Amino acid sequence: MDWKQIFKTSLTQAEVIAERFNLDANLIRTVIERYPARINSYYLSLIKEKDDPIYRQCIPTITELEDDFGEDDPLLEDSAQRAHPNVPDLITHRYPDRVLFRISNRCAMYCRFCTRKRKVGDPLKRPTWPAIEQAFTYIENNKIIRDVILSGGDPLMLDDTDLERILHRVHKIICNRPRSIIRIGSRIPCVLPQRITPKLCTILQRYHPLYLNTHFNHPTEITPESKHACELLANAGIPLGNQTVLLKNINDNSTVMKELMQELLSIRVRPYYIYQADPVKGTNHFRTKVSRGIEIYKNLRGYTSGLAVPTFVIDAPGGGGKIPLLPEYLKEKSPGKIVLKNYEDKEFIYPDTAMDD
Ligand SMILES: *Cc1c(COP(=O)(O)O)cnc(C)c1O
Ligand code: SF4
Repeated sequence: MDWKQIFKTSLTQAEVIAERFNLDANLIRTVIERYPARINSYYLSLIKEKDDPIYRQCIPTITELEDDFGEDDPLLEDSAQRAHPNVPDLITHRYPDRVLFRISNRCAMYCRFCTRKRKVGDPLKRPTWPAIEQAFTYIENNKIIRDVILSGGDPLMLDDTDLERILHRVHKIICNRPRSIIRIGSRIPCVLPQRITPKLCTILQRYHPLYLNTHFNHPTEITPESKHACELLANAGIPLGNQTVLLKNINDNSTVMKELMQELLSIRVRPYYIYQADPVKGTNHFRTKVSRGIEIYKNLRGYTSGLAVPTFVIDAPGGGGKIPLLPEYLKEKSPGKIVLKNYEDKEFIYPDTAMDD
């Protein structure tokens, strides 16, 4: 089946989802009226049993409405809430030299834990061409931008023609700027790998240097299909990274996380970030304590390839950006000397002096 068919045969309606998993259709309906659901037939096929890590990521529950801690937009991504009202709706310009450009609000599957839950899948919030043009103009006028991150929703939900139109424009605008790059953030290699076709890769490879960060959360998401998708992308010369969200009862466990990171490397995907879950309304049942993430990091660093160790970050509420967190490897600092702890908690002293001091 091609990806459009797999997408078309998604479960999206309360009755169908409820019947499939023996749930209360009325409850499911109330949830998805607020936060849409889409479980495409590929991702659905990965569910082995009720409440397994795949199920929890995609099947709506009433908990989403009951839990109202947090905010709809804690990272202040929407322009109305941001300090610079002249930034177009589709752009978040948080760091000096790079922007997030949300070209789609649709996804191949709606993750229940999504930080942009407030607007993904809403047909009224789909980016329009005039809004996309405004974003182009903004990038054109802000010469300092050298890194454009196409994001969403999922940017690969656009069809090949529309996607190429955007890539072409962005590339044209920034390609003469020193050290410019384009990035794509897409969960599609994980949730609808059939979308990664040779034709798509032929398009993408015209816009190098192009990087793609994908989003796998659990080792069972790594399948022959997703492996093949990553292989096509990597063979098109696109360096692949991965961003994982730390999720309670899904991957908040050192063994699972280590397996995931090693599996990713074996399909040529380099782990980039593990995110602490954002305090987003309707997703708190997925949030862990920060200490869990630090513990997981501690069980990666030293115990497996450094390439398998991503940076653990919190995206600071209020729009502060990503802040890295580490276990306490630096034990003591005094003039001329620091005391370090290695991965096994053994102490080492480093002479902290330099010739010129
Ligand atoms: C995550 C993010 C980026 C990219 O951050 P890197 O650390 O460079 O990967 C850029 N802009 C916004 C708004 C982001 O949330
Ligand atoms: S694919 Fe990304 S944007 Fe879409 S629902 Fe999942 S987490 Fe949200």
